[in-house]
Amino acid sequence: MNKLEHIGIAVKNLEESNRLFSRLLGTDPYKTEIVEREGVKTSFFKVGDIKIELLEATHSDSPIARFIEKKGEGVHHLAFDVQPIEEKMENLKSEGFGLLADTPKPGADNKKIVFLHPKTTNSVLVELCQDRG
Ligand code: ZN
Repeated sequence: MNKLEHIGIAVKNLEESNRLFSRLLGTDPYKTEIVEREGVKTSFFKVGDIKIELLEATHSDSPIARFIEKKGEGVHHLAFDVQPIEEKMENLKSEGFGLLADTPKPGADNKKIVFLHPKTTNSVLVELCQDRG
């Protein structure tokens, strides 16, 4: 892993949470983006080298809606920058980690992303991401 790229936080209401995190972090989100395939509306804040990604479900079947239903709002995933992502996926697979997809998918913030199975990572949802360039 190159570095912790961002921390994803599941929220019920993105607008309210944007205001909350703007006050908390002292900076406004630099982008808001809908990723229809993932069923999420996201916003991103920069804090030093790290980003905070807020995620709101766009429909009740979204993974974020199901997460909030089970666990409530809060930290949802840790995302690590990796390069190249396909190679890292192979490495981790051979180390016994489960992947939630066989190929990386387009994610928010111009990334290719894939998630590791939380069963294999102490229940921490880990995202691998690589800039799409
Ligand atoms: Zn993420």
